[in-house]
Amino acid sequence: MKEWNLLLKKEWKKVSVIILAALLLTLSIIGQGYLFVTIVDRVFIEGGGLSAVLVPLTLLLGVLWLRTGVSTAIARTGVRLASGAKRMMRERLLHKISGASVGESGQVEAGRRVSVFMDAVEETDSYFSGYVPQVIQSLIVPFFLFITIAMIHLNSAFIILATSPFIPLFYIIIGMKTKEKSEEKVEEMNALSGKFLDILQGLTTLKLFRKAKVQKETIETSSLRFRDATMEVLKTAFVSSLMLELISMLSIGLIALEIALQLIIFENMNFFTAFFILILAPEFYNYLKQLGFAFHTGRTSMGAASKVFEEINKPEDEMQWGEKELRLSRPPHITLRNVTYRYGEDGFHTGPVSVDLPPGKNLAIAGRTGSGKSTLLHLISGLMPVKEGTIEVEEEDLHEYREDEWMNHVSYISQDPYIFSGTLEENIIIGAGRRPAAGEVETALEKAGLYELTQRLERGMDTLLGEGGRGLSGGEKQRLALARAFLKDPYIVLLDEPTTGLDLETERILSESLTELSQQATMITVAHRLHTIRESDEILFLEDGRVAGQGTHEELFGTVDEYRRMTTASRGVEVQ
Ligand code: ATP
Ligand code: MG
Repeated sequence: MKEWNLLLKKEWKKVSVIILAALLLTLSIIGQGYLFVTIVDRVFIEGGGLSAVLVPLTLLLGVLWLRTGVSTAIARTGVRLASGAKRMMRERLLHKISGASVGESGQVEAGRRVSVFMDAVEETDSYFSGYVPQVIQSLIVPFFLFITIAMIHLNSAFIILATSPFIPLFYIIIGMKTKEKSEEKVEEMNALSGKFLDILQGLTTLKLFRKAKVQKETIETSSLRFRDATMEVLKTAFVSSLMLELISMLSIGLIALEIALQLIIFENMNFFTAFFILILAPEFYNYLKQLGFAFHTGRTSMGAASKVFEEINKPEDEMQWGEKELRLSRPPHITLRNVTYRYGEDGFHTGPVSVDLPPGKNLAIAGRTGSGKSTLLHLISGLMPVKEGTIEVEEEDLHEYREDEWMNHVSYISQDPYIFSGTLEENIIIGAGRRPAAGEVETALEKAGLYELTQRLERGMDTLLGEGGRGLSGGEKQRLALARAFLKDPYIVLLDEPTTGLDLETERILSESLTELSQQATMITVAHRLHTIRESDEILFLEDGRVAGQGTHEELFGTVDEYRRMTTASRGVEVQ
């Protein structure tokens, strides 16, 4: 697991604090044992009074204090280590999933993945907060305890040497089993949350079709399977801790037996040594055993974590951006050369598309539903990388530029604009990528025809939208996207006209806004309305991903049968 090591390397400071603390812990354990035995020896064997043990008693208090302090320090550092690692994983996951959400997976799918994987990240907590500190302690403490015991009495050391390998051996066997089981558990969890979200989202539809009851049963089966998987993991955990307990108790018993023989039968050992070893030996096994418990939790986390890392490392269609700046004072010159895209191995194929877009040009993309229009817009926007061919911006390949340099100039009004959970104002500002000056947001709202709506709302621009807030109608969403575009002042406007007919008022606003936006921008519009198509400088007519015609309305009308059929059938209002 090279990612783990990478994470640990990044947090090496915290790891070294734990190592140092573990060394101190060993010292305090040995010191505590030594002082305790000294006190007992002086009082019970030598018959000394309080004055004889005053010094060791005070020292013992100090050592106990040290041991507690060091243990707390280790636990705290572990928690901090976990939060650091989790933050890093979350960032990488979010980056990964948000980058991929327009590509081969939809937005809903992205939401599901985020929720499932954020849970999985949370499950890795115990690896860093519990497992890592415990492994460090369990390597350092028993090692030095073993050396101490060997120096005092070699026979006990031999017994330890013979018995202790059973403990790690045992949890390696158990661990392998648990890992499988916990991966199974994550999978069940995955299935459960996926089903749950799907059903919640489709609840109205399901109710309409009277299928809600069947779905209830689906959730029930799914959650029962999750319960069983969890119980399996717990069962293995309990059995393994019982076995570990048994092994360490037997070993301590063996050591005690040997010491008793030495002390009573052979009489070649004094009380002090015997007692000291009897105090150190359980500590030794305790730390080895705790490694076993930690190993179990570590395994569970690893099951979750390997899923997370699998996701992070999955090769995904994602644009690789460069470092070039893009300084513009007018719309850029954009050229598409044989641009193609394919979803997955043998999914829908778009292209090749070649088109020249000098500054300020109006391009319309037309075609039947599913002909690849939105896909082409995604490619031009840089949200998805082209598979073959190039998109050139100012005579330079698009992916040579820095992502933000390009995105700063682009407004993309999609078919179904996304509303974030936040206030109306935040939802508009998000498009600008800067803090707008006073009054700017209002102007954008007005131009987009949303001003009236904000006047009607009780909390105006502070109204909460999206998850947990107020909903918006399709037309209102489209207007909100327009407001975002106005605030941004883009040089490139990408518009995916909604397929459903808009109300007349929104239509009017849309037309007016687009005319205004197009005065200082290159417009690329997926057009459904004949009006938009006819107004454009060039039309790209797609059929099943291929370019079936390219030119002005008159040219296409004369030469492309399918285009003529489509535009006449629409009777001038809407093209499907
Ligand atoms: P509409 O007019 O209905 O919006 P469109 O022309 O915009 O249609 P696209 O969204 O570009 O069509 O889709 C083109 C084809 O690619 C469709 O057949 C669609 O099923 C397929 N497709 C779209 N998104 C994906 C995806 N994420 N994975 C696989 N195939 C996809
Ligand atoms: Mg589309």
